[in-house]
Amino acid sequence: MTIYNILSERIGKIKGLQLKKNIPLKDYTTFAVGGPADFFLKPEKISHLTQALPIIQELKIPYFILGKGSNLIVGDKGFRGIIIYTGQLREYTIKENRITAMSGLLLHELAEITCQTELSGLEFASGIPGSLGGALYMNAGAYGGEMKDLVKKAKIVTMSGEVKELTASQLELDYRHSILQEEDYLAYSVTLALTSGLREEIRKKINKLHDKRWSKQPMEWPSAGSIFKRPPGHYTGPLIEKAGMKGASFGGAKVSEKHAGFIINKNNATAEDIVQLIELVKKEVYKISGVELEVEPRFVGEF
Ligand SMILES: Cc1cc2nc3c(=O)[nH]c(=O)nc-3n(C[C@H](O)[C@H](O)[C@H](O)COP(=O)(O)OP(=O)(O)OC[C@H]3O[C@@H](n4cnc5c(N)ncnc54)[C@H](O)[C@@H]3O)c2cc1C
Repeated sequence: MTIYNILSERIGKIKGLQLKKNIPLKDYTTFAVGGPADFFLKPEKISHLTQALPIIQELKIPYFILGKGSNLIVGDKGFRGIIIYTGQLREYTIKENRITAMSGLLLHELAEITCQTELSGLEFASGIPGSLGGALYMNAGAYGGEMKDLVKKAKIVTMSGEVKELTASQLELDYRHSILQEEDYLAYSVTLALTSGLREEIRKKINKLHDKRWSKQPMEWPSAGSIFKRPPGHYTGPLIEKAGMKGASFGGAKVSEKHAGFIINKNNATAEDIVQLIELVKKEVYKISGVELEVEPRFVGEF
């Protein structure tokens, strides 16, 4: 019996949880690239996690926690192991000015919910196309706001199946950083503290940021957002333009004409096309400006 047969048999005993095989990850990433995952799990409640994660750990199967896939470059050969997808963890409760939501809810959905309930604070995040769990992991931010400003606590599940509640300071939120990047924690739910506001005012702010984003960023094309981290003292867009790489392409991948800090999937790009283009841009920017660019999205799987 192979290790994967043992995995199938043991996960199969968890009520309501199905183990799927050979799932194309390009369907689960905003870049629309990525080969198949050997195994794919869609937990719907905390008991699925507390039962399944220890099995994965015990069998030493490589795993990856997947939110909306908006900050990932997944290799064309896919992922050898199991993907734990949070997209079915979608419930939330609101108590006074606090919302506690499961990690699979998307930021724009949360912004809409809080706008309807006249709670202000999440407007900055309404255009970030990630899930709440991914936003916590990355301490996502935009237009002067970041998750750190709102997060009060989070419930996490460790790979040994332990459930813990972490305070904001234990989460160590910093520029594109959280403790989740160092520990084997799956964020199950997050509590955000908001302030009361007027629906029309909140809506106005969301619409304004939406227009700003759509006018400056290539939102109409598949991408993983900003492809490079902002180097201290510089902006990536101008650095890339100065290096003559705005509009450059490799295979189906292209440096956006609208915002040079984005690489877009223009024409059925492969992950390999994107990687090659990243290398070209890095090389030219270093040659012209002496700045070493660092990729922001995470590389996942086999290339
Ligand atoms: C067009 C576009 C614009 C963007 N603009 C911005 C922006 O303005 N600001 C910004 O900060 N980002 C931006 N991003 C990047 C991205 O949306 C954010 O980083 C987002 O927070 C990622 O969330 P996700 O659910 O897609 O995570 P994924 O891409 O699925 O995963 C990212 C990382 O988080 C981990 N993770 C996901 N969920 C969990 C969980 N529940 N528990 C533990 N770990 C988890 C994953 O394992 C992975 O390591 C943009 C992306 C795009 C495509």
